[in-house]
Amino acid sequence: MRLPNNDVVIIGGGIAGLSCARRLNTEGIPFTVLEASDRIGGRVKTDRHDGFLLDHGFQVLQTAYPEAKRVLDYRQLDLHAFAPGAMFQVAGRRFTVADPLRRPRDVIGTITAPIGTFVDRIRLARLTHRVTTEGFEDLFQQPESTAMQFLQAEGFSKTMIARFFVPFFGGVCLDPEIRASSRVLQYVLRMFAQGDVALPAMGMEQIPRQLASDLPAEILRTNVRVRQIADNAVTMEDGSVLSPRAIVVATEGPEADRLLGIPRSRGSISETCLYFSCDRAEWHPPFLVLDADGTGPINNVAFPSAVSPAYAPSGKTLVSVVVLGHPDAGESHLLFRVKDQLVDWFGSEAAAWEHLATFRMVHALPDQSPPTADPNTPIPMVRPGLFVAGEHGSLPGIQWAMLSGRKAAEAVIDCLG
Ligand SMILES: Cc1cc2nc3c(=O)[nH]c(=O)nc-3n(C[C@H](O)[C@H](O)[C@H](O)COP(=O)(O)OP(=O)(O)OC[C@H]3O[C@@H](n4cnc5c(N)ncnc54)[C@H](O)[C@@H]3O)c2cc1C
Repeated sequence: MRLPNNDVVIIGGGIAGLSCARRLNTEGIPFTVLEASDRIGGRVKTDRHDGFLLDHGFQVLQTAYPEAKRVLDYRQLDLHAFAPGAMFQVAGRRFTVADPLRRPRDVIGTITAPIGTFVDRIRLARLTHRVTTEGFEDLFQQPESTAMQFLQAEGFSKTMIARFFVPFFGGVCLDPEIRASSRVLQYVLRMFAQGDVALPAMGMEQIPRQLASDLPAEILRTNVRVRQIADNAVTMEDGSVLSPRAIVVATEGPEADRLLGIPRSRGSISETCLYFSCDRAEWHPPFLVLDADGTGPINNVAFPSAVSPAYAPSGKTLVSVVVLGHPDAGESHLLFRVKDQLVDWFGSEAAAWEHLATFRMVHALPDQSPPTADPNTPIPMVRPGLFVAGEHGSLPGIQWAMLSGRKAAEAVIDCLG
């Protein structure tokens, strides 16, 4: 295969690689992006299936992400927001807990929902105030513990932790024991408080597409897997070699470990996402519905087409169901258990919901238990001319993939002088 021997090779065409490419492009530095799969986007992809839009796992854009606000054109993405809050499924009933300032009509329900005490609400309001008024970067300088230890130290009741924080934060970090870092918890609370949880009208893949939209098409090479990096030469699976002046590894953590020969990644956390279709109905809420009973297997259910109608064809609703982890038992066994729980939550009509697809993501996110890296620090050079972007040495998520991609590009620009 003949590829241009550009100054920089970026390995991986996910959000981090594309963000790096954008920054280099503004400086006029010649680069090539090598992407192993058939399209850009990495973990942020959307498939079309019989008129439905199926994101690769339930994913959302938090509009408060500082780097996303800086770089993305939200208007062009045509963002549609979930209602600010969530529904909690407790003992056969659903309770709405919403941000009282943005959804005053749910104030009474929010106060009376059986997810903790009145004092817990006050503690949550105080904590939210604290994390939204502190400097953003300061959140990542604080002493660290697991989220569970932090919440216990903050005085939250067992019920509030089990029924609110475990399903909510456990769902965000795909971590039912909420061992993720207290810094990540505070950052997540801040993002939820300061913005919307949104979907681009035509699916999450519109985000990487927008990042790539200004890049020259010929520099994005798909179906090109890098086999190894040695002596600053990049060898592809077909044996061809590139020798750029700088290399940016922007793959997922475990693959970055392999390519760099530095075992730094934190272990993988998995997600299984099942999609169903049903007839459109008025009651399908634009809220995330969370399992506060902890009976499983479901962590959360969402109705993406109730948020952005383009996710389903006319007259239909798309239902997304998230199961944390990567259950070993066969597909039909998991489907049976999920259907059983859906009927329990939404009544017998859920038995007729048609299964559309299942996405099993073995490496959805890395483990985020302490100690975690400060994602705001500059990107160091791994070896002369070799840089890394993405979650390897940072944190996972669209915000950090974008920021680390830009910072890696800035480190490359410094290095190339
Ligand atoms: C199910 C799920 C839900 C999520 N939910 C959210 C959410 O709601 N909000 C949020 O902010 N974040 C969420 N995330 C996390 C977010 O999607 C990721 O952190 C982010 O997309 C990572 O981007 P990246 O570019 O660092 O890595 P990736 O997206 O993993 O991109 C790496 C790219 O490198 C390519 N590659 C790998 N090896 C090679 C090789 N040898 N040669 C060439 N190319 C290679 C891969 O094919 C891939 O395209 C979620 C992730 C998943 C999976």
